[in-house]
Amino acid sequence: MRPRDRWMLADGRWGQGAGERMFTVIDPADGQPLGVVPVGSGADVDAAVAAARRAAPGWAAVPAAERGAALHAAARAVEDGAAELAALVTAEMGRPAGDALASVEAGVGTLRQYAELGPLHCGRSLQGGWDAADFMVREPRGAVAVITPWNDPVAIACGLIGAAVATGNTVVHKPSERTPHTGALLAELLAARLPGGVLNLVTGDAETGAALAGHPGLDVVAHVGSTATGRRITGLAAGSGARVLLENGGSDPLLVDAGVDPAWAAEQAAVGCFANSGQICTSVERVYVHEDVAPAFLDALTERARALRTGPGADPSTELGPLVDERHRARVHEQVEKAVAEGARVRTGGHVPDGPGCFYPATVLSDCTDAMVVMAEETFGPVAPVRVVGSFEEGLEAANRSRYGLAATVLTRDLAHAQTAWRTLRTGTVKVNAVFGGAPGGAATPRGASGRGFGYGPELLDEMTEVKVVHLQSAVP
Ligand code: NAD
Repeated sequence: MRPRDRWMLADGRWGQGAGERMFTVIDPADGQPLGVVPVGSGADVDAAVAAARRAAPGWAAVPAAERGAALHAAARAVEDGAAELAALVTAEMGRPAGDALASVEAGVGTLRQYAELGPLHCGRSLQGGWDAADFMVREPRGAVAVITPWNDPVAIACGLIGAAVATGNTVVHKPSERTPHTGALLAELLAARLPGGVLNLVTGDAETGAALAGHPGLDVVAHVGSTATGRRITGLAAGSGARVLLENGGSDPLLVDAGVDPAWAAEQAAVGCFANSGQICTSVERVYVHEDVAPAFLDALTERARALRTGPGADPSTELGPLVDERHRARVHEQVEKAVAEGARVRTGGHVPDGPGCFYPATVLSDCTDAMVVMAEETFGPVAPVRVVGSFEEGLEAANRSRYGLAATVLTRDLAHAQTAWRTLRTGTVKVNAVFGGAPGGAATPRGASGRGFGYGPELLDEMTEVKVVHLQSAVP
């Protein structure tokens, strides 16, 4: 990988930062070092926030159409750099190449959506007196911290940065310490098309993130990442009063009803559990299957898991890449081992393979109970823990017994079951008969420990703005 010396960006100027600590990024496919990255210090965070604050009034005053045009130019730059960005995603977090490119393209699409929607995002006019004008305007909130995870580093950052910038805010981005090369290249591509100070960057770890989240100069702190971090950020931002947006973890259930084709249901479950090695916020984390279809479903899911081609993400034939790092693999395996100790049966997988890299096999566990951590908590690995239920209602009740509330999927041929499910599931997103998909622009508010506020869709533009009501009356002659 090309060594880079551009890590911190403030006021349009790149540098190495003022901190003394460094960290090494490791390729999860072979354990080899990819690069050494500076950890942003308190002074680096101060400089980036100060730059964002200075640039905020000027950027807010730029006509919305011009901001949209700048964002379109930035989207084109990301599109031109898509191959390089995708290669960095694969190198840093192991995502298979085709999938990594698709995730970058999704980011480009999101930037374009916000470039179009930003200028159309407006308030409403009111019916006042004849000699007055009354209206409500949306104004940018100011300086926004964007703190992002490693599992989909380009698309998530593009969404939050795009929505903030399109509505006239300025940004300090802190990419994950596991994907800093990706974050720095993305910032380089975007910032070159924006005035200095509109987009600023600080690389670093949790300490850097905490210094940013608690900074008094911010108006919004948007975090996509784990629930535990989201909770910490809420506490840190309480001091400054910044608005906090959280898109956090989940424990998404999949319900498989009686009467469905077990082979098709198994294929859906395999995609939901194993895509991106299970490292998607809306991965299927637990499966409730009706006893009528359970034996055939489990056989088909096990067969599909065994057939997945495992390998480095850079190999075009790879279907299952490595997990992001050794620490994460140990956590995934610990959950599996604990489940087995508590009575789960390993149908396939469930072991740490020999050799370099952080690979973990697609794993199917049957005889699971809801008390097992692998069912109750987010595993974020290629693991399908399955519990057989006697009725659809039993599955639905179990699905709802969770502190999380991100998304849920129901596979059923029964319209009444589908209707009951979407009405009663306490999650932001409900999908019927497809684990992934959904129309563009769909957005939901996560429930419970999964977060708060809109992190996606046109509604994110509302989150990034505040409303002023104006009463404008002619002076008395
Ligand atoms: P993480 O919360 O550990 O890290 C995310 C970011 O937060 C990183 O930039 C990190 O440096 C920073 N951070 C860590 N500790 C911090 C602190 N104390 N203060 C401020 N910042 C801090 O999450 P992760 O491991 O990178 O990502 C995986 C998690 O993200 C999973 O739980 C997944 O479900 C979740 N996720 C959610 C969504 C969603 O839309 N709901 C999308 C993608 C990922």
